[in-house]
Amino acid sequence: MDELQHECGVAAVYHLETGIVSPLIPKRDKTPPPKDGQSADVPEEPELFDDAIARTSRMIPGMLLDMQNRGQLAAGFTTYRPNRPQLIQTYKDVGGVAEVFRMNHEERYKALMADHAGHAAIGHVRYATCGTDHPSYAQPFERQHIARSKWFSFAFNGQLANYRDLCRDILQNKDFHLTRETDTEVLHHLISHEMSLNAAITPVELLNKLSKILDGSWNIVFLNARGQMFVSRDPLGMRPLCYALEGSLFAAASESVALTHLGFSEESVHNVPPGHVVIVDGDSVIVKKYAESPKKAHCFFEWIYFANAGSTFDDAGVYLSRKRLGEELAAREPIEIDDDVIVVPVPDTAKAAADAMAFKLGVPSLEGLIRNRYMGRTFIEGNNRADKVRMKYTPLPEVMEGKRVLLVDDSIVRATTLRELLALLKTRGRAKEIHVRIACPPIIAPCFYGIDMSTVKELFAPQFMAGTVLTEEEQQAMADSIGATSLRYLPLEALSACVGLPESSLCMACVNTVYPTPAGESMYERALEKVKRDNHIAQSGCVPLCVPEQTERVYI
Ligand code: SF4
Repeated sequence: MDELQHECGVAAVYHLETGIVSPLIPKRDKTPPPKDGQSADVPEEPELFDDAIARTSRMIPGMLLDMQNRGQLAAGFTTYRPNRPQLIQTYKDVGGVAEVFRMNHEERYKALMADHAGHAAIGHVRYATCGTDHPSYAQPFERQHIARSKWFSFAFNGQLANYRDLCRDILQNKDFHLTRETDTEVLHHLISHEMSLNAAITPVELLNKLSKILDGSWNIVFLNARGQMFVSRDPLGMRPLCYALEGSLFAAASESVALTHLGFSEESVHNVPPGHVVIVDGDSVIVKKYAESPKKAHCFFEWIYFANAGSTFDDAGVYLSRKRLGEELAAREPIEIDDDVIVVPVPDTAKAAADAMAFKLGVPSLEGLIRNRYMGRTFIEGNNRADKVRMKYTPLPEVMEGKRVLLVDDSIVRATTLRELLALLKTRGRAKEIHVRIACPPIIAPCFYGIDMSTVKELFAPQFMAGTVLTEEEQQAMADSIGATSLRYLPLEALSACVGLPESSLCMACVNTVYPTPAGESMYERALEKVKRDNHIAQSGCVPLCVPEQTERVYI
């Protein structure tokens, strides 16, 4: 709702050198009919193995489209083909996947795919959690080198919470220089550095070394000019990463939906276990552990909001998790249900929860709010948020007029968009009452692992919560502040059951302030110090900002 931004997605495909062309490889383009319009009934020439498998790289744009929900700022891919001078070759740009790969222009798309044809490829969709939207920040990042093992490209999904410390350590060497404000460059440097120390370093050795200095979330897809690929998941498993192998085709992606859409059966799709790497080379695929993974910290937000609803990872389906969130909200619904009550989802991510809530309550779930799906990241005339909300959402009075609306949303971060939306629902939608129901506990702390959340000061909930208990009065004060009749959150204690995983295997730091890594903890402490300092400065007259305490919360 608050335009909470996603944190990138990665993809990889590899046709193994088995001599058998995978049936999942895209079919070759049909020969165009002759100009005179006569049908050329000429049988197709048998195709060389190399030419057939060079279409493997064509699978990347479609995979990235399936993960466009994870980033719309930039996209790109690197492909590998052994019989061309440019053994690995990278193409990337800013924009959505369809825009970057010219998918709305058949001839340009085909030309681009022909130029970058390859047996193996890695791809990336980007949302910037750090750095700017300059094209040079788009991934993959390629490093050219005369040694084929050191000529590589990689893409990264996550965020290094100890980025500043890593930069400082790197720049202690006076001969080193960093050109961009992004942790991808730091990772680029660290990989190159390890290779310069040991040209024969294996993926397991490399990742083991990285695991000793990196703090945060860091899934990697890597491809070098020898045609060796690896895909790895950080030891906490914070971001999802799946892989599939069927016959001669290997593929990996941040979300399972990108693999099943290629034609892999659901049984062939597996999670990359945290602390593990899948190494693909020639005709072999092996999964190896590179670091211990004593605890897991899967980001719960993936299930609530970020991931494609068609995905399943870490043995929990996204759609069913969202359905359970709605059922839980229904079980706790305090208002009296009568014929005037309808459920309206805030499109699109809250729809599964809203439908399930309505079904459980026995009331209709109606699309009283229509979202313009085609605006994307386009520039919108009018600078203020009210203009943007008005352009993006259309409330339907024929659905809401005179109704008591249970408005279901996935989360509240800053509440800025929600506030404008409620004003619109009342004036144009003419709803009698609007009861906001949030399928997530209050967000009380920032994320340092790749989700673009505000600073503590900007977050909505901490401004109202005086202590450890979310009281009736506080919830009403929140409701009044956004212009709702009432507001209810999903209780924290209900969260892990809804996701379908034990609490001990989830990161829930933004809702319980328990950070799973030392850098996350210390960044949060610094953030709290800053709030305290700001509160001290603004002692008189200004709105006090509460500081959430790290104790157990109780919800009413
Ligand atoms: S802090 Fe929140 S958003 Fe960030 S990784 Fe943890 S659960 Fe996900």
